[in-house]
Amino acid sequence: MRERRASAVDRDILQLNVDFNCGRWCESCEKFFDCDDPKRFMIYERRRMQKAREALSQVKYKIPVAGGKGGVGKSTTTANLGMGLAMRGHKVTILDQDFDGACIPKMLGILEKRMEMCPQGLLPVEGPLGIHVLSMGNILKNEDVLTWFHDMRRGATEEFLSHTLFGKRDFLLVDLPPGTSSDTVNTLQFLPDAAGMVVVTIPSQVSQGIAYKAAMLAKKAGMRILGVIENMSGYICEACGGIEYIFQKGGGEFLAEEVDVPFLGRIPLDARLTRAADHGTPFVHAFAESEASKAVHQIIDRILAQLGDNIQRRNADTAALAEEAETRK
Ligand code: ADP
Repeated sequence: MRERRASAVDRDILQLNVDFNCGRWCESCEKFFDCDDPKRFMIYERRRMQKAREALSQVKYKIPVAGGKGGVGKSTTTANLGMGLAMRGHKVTILDQDFDGACIPKMLGILEKRMEMCPQGLLPVEGPLGIHVLSMGNILKNEDVLTWFHDMRRGATEEFLSHTLFGKRDFLLVDLPPGTSSDTVNTLQFLPDAAGMVVVTIPSQVSQGIAYKAAMLAKKAGMRILGVIENMSGYICEACGGIEYIFQKGGGEFLAEEVDVPFLGRIPLDARLTRAADHGTPFVHAFAESEASKAVHQIIDRILAQLGDNIQRRNADTAALAEEAETRK
């Protein structure tokens, strides 16, 4: 429970939430999806929520990518799924919601690009294979350290989702921050029509136990879970090609069974993948024959199959796509 004086900006929230006994501000409430008061849905009548719906109206599939813990490869997996989809000719936008640890721009080699604004709204940065990116990493300088407080986080989420010129896109992949608190809840609130969440975990029980919470949050939000990906599933030795299960094996499958959702597949640990992310090389494109890239494509097949899309790969000429992106710089 918290109280504060209402500013002009808050007035519409007050009007909507005046009947609540708990005194909470629904929109910024971490317990939003726990609350069983139907009045909480009134937040969707707010101007900014409506604006977000409008801005996202031409985006076909919105897919948040979650994982309980940091460092399990959520951003890497989001970037690689985005690249794999773009290689098939899909129009992809990646929204980097990890404000504290925005690393999608670095992984896609576009850290130097700056996001711009026109009178109609924010313009995403263009990355490899025509992927559009929205990230704090393309707004703040690398050396900037911002202390993000609750309302700032909410405000930034609203800005990204309500005031961006998304345009006509096939996929919006949202790289959620680790955990199940305000940033994640804020974002999910804005995506009530998401196609489904993808949950990333490494095989260990420690990671899997926390990823379970992300899956539970999706269930509470009434959001479909497209499935679980087990990342860092075995290390492929560069010298001998042998595989070692450093973080164990099977945790992703176990989690999928536990929450009764599809298991989407395993992505192995591959040192080239780490290096590619560090150098901004689009891994799935540059190392198309690697086991990790093949795994990413199998996962995409399973996701598309669930979305009812045609799983036949489009014969997109990726070189032409990259060239087109280059000329637009
Ligand atoms: P998260 O977004 O969950 O915090 P990241 O995607 O930033 O995690 O990944 C953490 C680190 O692990 C990065 O350096 C990334 O390059 C590396 N990484 C992720 N997945 C793999 C993988 N399958 N093989 C090798 N390195 C990986």
